[in-house]
Amino acid sequence: MRVLILGAGFGGLELARALDDALGADVEVTLVDKADGFVFGFSKLDVMFGRATADHVVHRYADAVPSGVVFVQTTVRSIDPAARRAETDAGPLDADVLVVALGADLHPEATPGLVEAGHEFYTVAGAFALREVLDAFPGGDVVVAVTSTPFKCPPAPSETALLVHDHLRDRGLLDHSTVSLVMPLGAPVPPSPQASEVLLAAFAERGIRWHPGALVRSLDPDRRVAVLADGSELPFDLFLAVPVHRAPQVVVDAGLTEDGWIPVDPLTLRTRFEDVYAVGDVTSVGTPKAGVFAEGQAAVVATQLISRLRGGSATTYDGHGTCYVEMGGGEVGKVDVTFVSGRPPTGGIEGPSRALAADKSAFGADRVRRWFGREWNP
Ligand SMILES: Cc1cc2nc3c(=O)[nH]c(=O)nc-3n(C[C@H](O)[C@H](O)[C@H](O)COP(=O)(O)OP(=O)(O)OC[C@H]3O[C@@H](n4cnc5c(N)ncnc54)[C@H](O)[C@@H]3O)c2cc1C
Repeated sequence: MRVLILGAGFGGLELARALDDALGADVEVTLVDKADGFVFGFSKLDVMFGRATADHVVHRYADAVPSGVVFVQTTVRSIDPAARRAETDAGPLDADVLVVALGADLHPEATPGLVEAGHEFYTVAGAFALREVLDAFPGGDVVVAVTSTPFKCPPAPSETALLVHDHLRDRGLLDHSTVSLVMPLGAPVPPSPQASEVLLAAFAERGIRWHPGALVRSLDPDRRVAVLADGSELPFDLFLAVPVHRAPQVVVDAGLTEDGWIPVDPLTLRTRFEDVYAVGDVTSVGTPKAGVFAEGQAAVVATQLISRLRGGSATTYDGHGTCYVEMGGGEVGKVDVTFVSGRPPTGGIEGPSRALAADKSAFGADRVRRWFGREWNP
């Protein structure tokens, strides 16, 4: 069986590894990505706040991909889902099974004024560049804001606001600074009221100004104000944005999307095209856009392909994931959430504690060992 995986992020890497482990020479896996390395979302915050260097957090595909997997570093230019074929800068690629794991593209330019007057912290380049900006910031009004929905890792803006607060405190800038957090959601982590309560208490304790149910639509670079969807304004000296998310254009052009994202069967991750699956942020599967969910979906696709070759039963997707949330002060909370189609999501929080920061490091180290075959300490 030939499997073509487009995108070597959380979903693509997990699927390639699982197929290679289980099927060895019985499967030909081709893994395609335009980037030369993988970066965990949480590592972006580590670099931004000076806890890790850029070099340390980039896991280069060339150094180690699973042995039986062919990695092709190239850009996918078009996809023909009916033929399970992709045109790339390295030529055409086709397969018996196609898996689209191309994630969400980020569009800071879609928010008027953002590129001129603000910064985004969701791309690798944006987050890494913020390290110097934060180090040089003399204090003032900081706004952390979401500019559209859906967006990846719903706790990340809350984490960023808490880490900005720590950064300002450590640099002695808090007495003439404010931190505001603008979020479209009614609670920091809606599926987990308990986690939301812990985060809201942390904001209150630190004086972080919480703006729920709100979005920033544009920035006025001359007046240095952010304009919210309801027309109200927030002044800023430093604006940190979660940029607009869209499915990659190549996926839209392929006719794979509906309402912006790829619809899939929530149990099997199949698309409406035969032998074409989609996993992770590029889908509208019903879970939040986060690596743990992309990984869980990839594992389900793997069991289906394995059962096809080896027999036995395949698992279906259970919508379960565990996210680690930075709470500031070196503490981390562990949020456990489950999304099942047709039922309200459920979730609780463990911690926050310093012990869970070690747990989070182990989570990253485990993935790097599994996907890249080397030891790594986040
Ligand atoms: C600040 C921040 C913190 C986060 N923290 C967490 C966290 O703690 N836990 C968690 O679970 N998630 C976290 N996330 C979210 C997580 O990073 C994503 O949800 C996850 O990476 C999605 O996995 P994916 O496989 O769907 O897509 P991705 O990991 O985004 O992979 C998609 C891949 O496709 C490639 N690609 C796209 N278009 C093309 C093309 N045309 N040709 C070739 N290649 C292409 C990209 O280069 C990319 O490597 C965080 C995100 C951010 C921004």
